[in-house]
Parts: sequence; C-alpha cells; structure tokens
Amino acid sequence: MTDKTSDSRVPLTVLGTGAMGTALVRAWLAAGHPVTVWNRTPARAEALAAEGAAVAPSAAAAVAASRLVIACLLDDASVGEALDGADLTGRDLVNLTTGTPAQGRARAAWATARGARFLDGGIMAVPPMIGDADSGGYVFYSGSPELFEEHRDTLAVPAGTRYVGEDAGFAALHDVALLSAMSGMFAGIMHAFALIGPEDIAPKDFAPLLVSWLGAMTGSAHLAADQIESGDYGKGVVSNLAMQVAGNATLLRTAEEQGVSPELLTPYTALMERWLAEGHGEEDTSGMVELLDLRRGGA
Ligand code: NDP
Repeated sequence: MTDKTSDSRVPLTVLGTGAMGTALVRAWLAAGHPVTVWNRTPARAEALAAEGAAVAPSAAAAVAASRLVIACLLDDASVGEALDGADLTGRDLVNLTTGTPAQGRARAAWATARGARFLDGGIMAVPPMIGDADSGGYVFYSGSPELFEEHRDTLAVPAGTRYVGEDAGFAALHDVALLSAMSGMFAGIMHAFALIGPEDIAPKDFAPLLVSWLGAMTGSAHLAADQIESGDYGKGVVSNLAMQVAGNATLLRTAEEQGVSPELLTPYTALMERWLAEGHGEEDTSGMVELLDLRRGGA
C-alpha cells in the first residue's frame, strides 16, 4: 500500500536504544509507527517496551521484523558486530551511527553486497531535540536516493532531513565538518573565558557578548566560500591577513598578561604567519585552506 495514511505509519526497526536510539524510538512511537527495537543490553530497551515498542530477542530477529532498519549504535565497529549474521536481503538499512566518510562508504558497499539498500546519516541534534519540530535538529543523509525518497516522510518524523548526495560518505563528511568548526568555536570560547577569569567580570555577563559577537562573525563563511570557489582570496577583502597577523601579537600578549596559556591560539596564528610569509598579506585568510590540504603538499 502506498497511500499517505499507511506511509505515515511505516513499521521500522531500531537497533540500539542508547540515549539517541531511545529518543528516536519515542518520536516514531509518538507518530504511530510500529517500532521493533533491539539493544545489546536488553534491560535498556525495557522502558520502550512499556511505551509500545516490540523488543526483539536478537539483532537478526529485529532486522527480520521490518524492511526499514535504523542502526543507532556507538560506532561503526558496533554496527558490524550487531549485524553480523543478520539477513539484510531486501532491507533498507539507515545507519545513524556516527562515523567517518570512509566508514560510511565501506558500510554502504558492505550492506549492498548483502542485498540491502543503504543510507548513511549524520545527526545534527542531541537527544532532547529529537521529536521536537521547533528544535532545529536535523539529520544529513547520503547514499541510495531511492531509499531516501521512499522513506523521507518516515525519516522526517524524529528530525529534519537533508539529503546531501549519493556518495555514502557525504553525510559523515558534512556532519564532521560542522562538528570540527564547532570544535574551533568551543576552543575560542574557552580561551575568552580564561582571559576574563582573573578579573571582576561575571562570566554570565560576558556570555551574551560572546554569543552576539560570534554570531555576527560567522557570516564571514559566505565570503570565504566565494573566495575559495573563485580561487581569488583577495576578492572583497575586509580584514587582510597582514593586519590580522599584527593583531595576533596583541591576542598572544594579552594571554601572557592575563596568565593564560596561548595553546588554543598558537596553531592558528602559526598557520597565518606561514601564509603571510608566502606573500598573501593583502588577501583574506580563506587561502589558508591550501596550507591545510595535505594532498597538495601543504602543512
Ligand atoms: P549511548 O552510549 O547512549 O548508546 C550506545 C549504544 O550502542 C547502546 O545501545 C549500546 O548498547 C550500543 N553498543 C555499543 N557497543 C556495541 C556493540 N559492540 N554491539 C552492539 N551494540 C553496541 O550513545 P548514543 O545513543 O548517545 O549514541 C548513538 C549514536 O548516535 C552514536 O554514534 C553517537 O555518536 C550518535 N549521536 C549521539 C548524539 C548524542 O548527543 N547522544 C548526537 C549525535 C549523534 P548497550 O546498551 O548494550 O551498551
């Protein structure tokens, strides 16, 4: 049956009822989907049984219960372990376990060789955001376009969906690229709090300033993208590299004055100095992507 009503209640299996798997299951149950669950430690699936999920005694039995199978396990190795021996023939396997792009591609080939269609996913949300349409949470998907099209309504129940291509590695790549950018931002926030730490400045008063400043600055990603795509790092420069390197001396000296380790700043300032030494002082910093590209004999 393909009518809308039955589509919205596609039965599915979820492997893994950890924090994220549990949130996913609850969202699908709340939307009326019949859900079969399996968890390596059965006790962790008990609460979901009380909420209406069917608990399968093994991963293989859980896979046999539904055509659409969602895996949300700790890491790629646990997916291989859990599905070892399960018959994937004719299954639609959606892997929401965080992994690398290469793991996504290898898992796609592995699943396809076992007769399944495969979609890899990267979850851009934490468990409390799952099932909350206003949270802004979403999942990157890549892999089989047919699988995505067929199940997009079901996949959209717990969080928004963003299909980023047939290459099964792309969901992980988008996911990890965003997480990596976040990591740099967290490092900067930590350093800023350390700088004000010794003074009579309340972190709670300072936090809103951080949020608005970082928010205003992140828009620079659009200009960087334009410069990187065109290869013209001098296009529309607002704050050139030479000026920024000079400014770095002030950042480092202030860290010293405040008794704060510069270790979160120095890798980035060193990269800027190298790019400046290569004659890019009048350009923006976006060209530094070339220094990071190891395949081009960079850093
Ligand atoms: P949890 O640690 O809460 O759960 C891990 C799950 O993996 C459990 O079901 C655990 O089973 C299972 N597991 C671990 N090792 C194995 C194995 N060898 N064989 C079978 N099952 C195994 O993690 P989360 O639920 O939070 O995370 C699940 C995935 O979701 C991860 O890939 C994570 O990166 C991703 N994710 C999580 C987010 C979060 O904020 N929580 C955010 C975005 C993505 P058992 O109960 O038996 O230990």
